Amino acid sequence: MTARIIDGKALAASIREEVAQQVATLKTQGVTPGLAVVLVGDDPASHVYVRNKAAACEKAGLHSEIIRLDKDISQAQLLSVVHKLNDDPRIHGILVQLPLPPHLNSHIVIEAISAAKDVDGFHISNAGLLMTGKPLFRPCTPYGVMKMLEAENVSPWGAEAVIVGASNIVGKPMAMLLLAAGATVTLCNSKTRDLAAQTRRADILVVATGKPGMVNGDMIKPGATVIDVGINRLPDGRLVGDVEFESAKEVAGAITPVPGGVGPMTIAMLLVNTLEAAERCVSLSATQ
Ligand code: NDP
Repeated sequence: MTARIIDGKALAASIREEVAQQVATLKTQGVTPGLAVVLVGDDPASHVYVRNKAAACEKAGLHSEIIRLDKDISQAQLLSVVHKLNDDPRIHGILVQLPLPPHLNSHIVIEAISAAKDVDGFHISNAGLLMTGKPLFRPCTPYGVMKMLEAENVSPWGAEAVIVGASNIVGKPMAMLLLAAGATVTLCNSKTRDLAAQTRRADILVVATGKPGMVNGDMIKPGATVIDVGINRLPDGRLVGDVEFESAKEVAGAITPVPGGVGPMTIAMLLVNTLEAAERCVSLSATQ
């Protein structure tokens, strides 16, 4: 039996539609949720991501601004752009597209974003809130994965969840969200001994390494739900994930494709986070 294919594209479209309806309601109260995306330099992939984010905002009725900055901008100049956005009442969410050019310190820049506008959820306060079970913003990619599991009726409660990849933006917040949802979580990295022994225990397997095809069907428990976060461009131009799709789908119970799986969900959850930030602003001003 081959796995059910989890259609991230369709789910993302329905979430964007819900966001559009809630944005329309907020507009009747005189507030248009606004997202500012700061793009430094001319990395072609970043330009594509930023364009897609702005287009998704526009479609859902959000206000969006792309602030394009020269690759040689100084750290002080970049921080002053972030501070201005922190003070701008039309902007509810701020995102600095990573990676930044090497002369800029991304940690300092992210910490400069107001935690209340940090829709990526990368600010240290938001990472801490997530870790202590009181998240303000959930990082978009793992948040999208949780929505996919929910839509597929895959309950993390009591499940063995194994995450391959432990980055601050995907693996670690993924672990926190699955843990909070009741899973027993194993977080693997490049030093993990006998990775297959770990992955074969997983009822829910999330792979986010940036290594094309590093998990294959032999490493998957029959019937498992496999979420492939990886996005890798092969030399022949094809886009593939971190999971070897053909062998994995023969073993898994459900699996996300690449493209069309986690990727579209990440953008949808960015809109959700921006909407939530704007709604919080409205309820805050109502109580003042
Ligand atoms: P990072 O490079 O920041 O982290 C990779 C992680 O994978 C590290 O923890 C690393 O271990 C681990 N790793 C690398 N090789 C192995 C291995 N052989 N065995 C076990 N673990 C390994 O990557 P990101 O988290 O930023 O991104 C991961 C992938 O997800 C990329 O393909 C990226 O493009 C994609 N991505 C997709 C998104 C989407 O919207 N779909 C959003 C964000 C990322 P160690 O800590 O030991 O170095």
